[in-house]
Amino acid sequence: MARTHNLGFPRIGAKRELKFALESYWKDQSSRDELKAVAAGLRQQNWALQNQLDLAPVGDFSFYDQVLDMSFTLGCLPNRVRDFHGDALDNYFRVARGRSAKSSEEGCCGGNHGGVAAGEMTKWFDTNYHYIVPDFKADTEFKLDASRLLAQLAEAKAQGVKAKPVIIGPVTYLSIGKEKDDSNRLELLGRLLPVYVELLNALAAQGVEWVQIDEPILVTELEADWVKAFTQAYQALSDTKVKLLLATYFGQLQSNLELVASLPVQGVHLDAINAGNEVDALIAKLPADRVISLGVINGRNIWKTDLNAVLEWLLPVSKQLGDRLWIAPSCSLLHVPVDLDSEVKLDAEIKSWLAFAKQKLTELSVLATAINQGPAAVKAELEANAAAIAARRNSPRVNNPAVKAAIAKLDAKLGQRKSPYATRAAKQAALLKLPKFPTTTIGSFPQTSDIRQARRRFKAGEISEASYLQAMRAEIAYSVREQELLDLDVLVHGEAERNDMVEYFGEQLDGYTFSQFGWVQSYGSRCVKPPILFGDISRPKAMTVEWSKYAQSLTRKPMKGMLTGPVTILNWSFVRDDQPRSISCYQLALAMRAEVLDLEKAGISVIQIDEAALREGLPLRRAQWQEYLDWAVESFRITANGVEDETQIHTHMCYSEFNDIIKSIADLDADVITIETSRSDMELLDAFKNFEYPNEIGPGVYDIHSPNIPNQDYMVKLMKLAAERVPAERLWVNPDCGLKTRQWNEVIPALTNMVEAAKTLRKSV
Ligand code: GLN
Ligand code: ZN
Repeated sequence: MARTHNLGFPRIGAKRELKFALESYWKDQSSRDELKAVAAGLRQQNWALQNQLDLAPVGDFSFYDQVLDMSFTLGCLPNRVRDFHGDALDNYFRVARGRSAKSSEEGCCGGNHGGVAAGEMTKWFDTNYHYIVPDFKADTEFKLDASRLLAQLAEAKAQGVKAKPVIIGPVTYLSIGKEKDDSNRLELLGRLLPVYVELLNALAAQGVEWVQIDEPILVTELEADWVKAFTQAYQALSDTKVKLLLATYFGQLQSNLELVASLPVQGVHLDAINAGNEVDALIAKLPADRVISLGVINGRNIWKTDLNAVLEWLLPVSKQLGDRLWIAPSCSLLHVPVDLDSEVKLDAEIKSWLAFAKQKLTELSVLATAINQGPAAVKAELEANAAAIAARRNSPRVNNPAVKAAIAKLDAKLGQRKSPYATRAAKQAALLKLPKFPTTTIGSFPQTSDIRQARRRFKAGEISEASYLQAMRAEIAYSVREQELLDLDVLVHGEAERNDMVEYFGEQLDGYTFSQFGWVQSYGSRCVKPPILFGDISRPKAMTVEWSKYAQSLTRKPMKGMLTGPVTILNWSFVRDDQPRSISCYQLALAMRAEVLDLEKAGISVIQIDEAALREGLPLRRAQWQEYLDWAVESFRITANGVEDETQIHTHMCYSEFNDIIKSIADLDADVITIETSRSDMELLDAFKNFEYPNEIGPGVYDIHSPNIPNQDYMVKLMKLAAERVPAERLWVNPDCGLKTRQWNEVIPALTNMVEAAKTLRKSV
């Protein structure tokens, strides 16, 4: 008998109940008990949905972040919150976001609402989920606090849940944290392991049989001392009374497969979506008494599983493994939306191709029945699934022969500018007549409540399209006027008409659709709703040209056209599983190229193509970076490089470590790149200096994430630091990123100072 289990379930709720409960508590509009009741209700619902499984996860629920939960379980708190005497949950929020609810702090710690520095956040492997990075020091001590896990376990038991507690393994926990001094965090392992042993024993005392211990770091390249740490750690943990299911996901084990097979655990979970090619090797290497859990349902996408195709290879495996086989989603379902049934507006045909978390669990049950009772027992389900898979595969909405033909004809010439940079730069200078240290901004101006309200009312049908367009034009006119008064050199239209830099284009491209409730947690209470790329991409008509033309008509200064690049559109969408990412990216590139050429034809001579998400698309393993960079760079080049020499192409990337990918950045061959640098004292420019980056650069001098207004001297100083690294004649002066989250009363003084700084530089450098 194959058993079914799940690695984790989304905790935000099908209608983002947790988000609203958290934000209301933080604003002091509800009590801690009300928040806790919403959380308990969500756990109960989630377990009820997982009732059909042989084992359901416990401890996967989190008020903010599962890594931060683990830090609290292990007693690994930053010093700045250790002396807090208030409620533990409030202290937890202080680490997560710098503060808790206001009333929770009264009378405590000087009544200053307990404001502390928020924990650093970073992306969880190659997902868009952000965790709070554990802090380590040479003297970090650990101390078990199992209360959260034990309480959830008791709740689960009371509900009759077949519980499998989920924790993050010790090696991954250390590896994803950071030293706050010059110690080596691996040296903490010896101090950490006894706390894990104590935790596992505490779970065993509650009658727990299996514990899922997540070690996703095993799908990355490990240095020798980290490999050794695994052996040491699992030797120590084997001395407890629970059975351990070592969970790996998001990729292949490759050279770590032998290591995994050698560890003294009772079972191993392998992501069979990404590492299907390693199933046989793992079976061969793993001792014959071990459980093998195969992740056969994709936990990272929203597509129905081809159940018949899975059974074709899984049935023979199940014959071979018998009771040793478990099946599950490939990873925690945290990374997919909760329930497709909520989608009442979604196109019925497309909906029939999709599965969210709840539907994926049903798929899992169908597979288990097919294995345990024979496929005939789920004949109707398998036939319906086959029909949906075939309908999607053959749908004319997915397949556009003209797009496929264009992709087949791609050649290197498409991505090549007509002349080298030096020739272009001279022609652009003659046309644009910009001063030294030209000033510009990154695209968006404040998204005021007026703008958001107009959009909301337009979408709700309360105002006509004409009055919506009128309102947006008025916003554009306002921002153009302000930029002229500021005396900026290259203006932008301000992006008032855009809700989001990806959604805006997705809504206008064929091949995209949108869900209503397809939310996925990004961090804490923040969720994103990625657009769904389901078919071959084409552009029915120009998307931005009218706005840019209108904005240009208001000024004699150059108006910068503003587009999102193909790689960023791709990386922030749910993408197809029926073709390589690279092909979807090339399709997006061709559509965006047509937009670039239309802008050029409309007289726009500066065009910016944002690639904010280029770096975050890098694969987990370095060995695969180059392949990704090759198609990502080529996609950008196809988009940008069809223009005449006189047209100046800009690109923009948010905070980026460019050292290890600088060659690819140069290969984009953009005339100007603007980047986020103000917080790093221009040190990020070292990569450009060492590489002798040949084109123009605008290093950000205004940290737009902060309400602070930088003064002129500060910005002059930063630009002088920049000029030590990049020749002054190739420098631009601009903020770090778009201004949409700021207020006009912050933006105006900051940009006034920025323009003054540029004028000072023109005289002195
Ligand atoms: N052009 C976009 C803006 O200004 C860029 C945003 C980004 O880089 N994330 O808002
Ligand atoms: Zn940015």
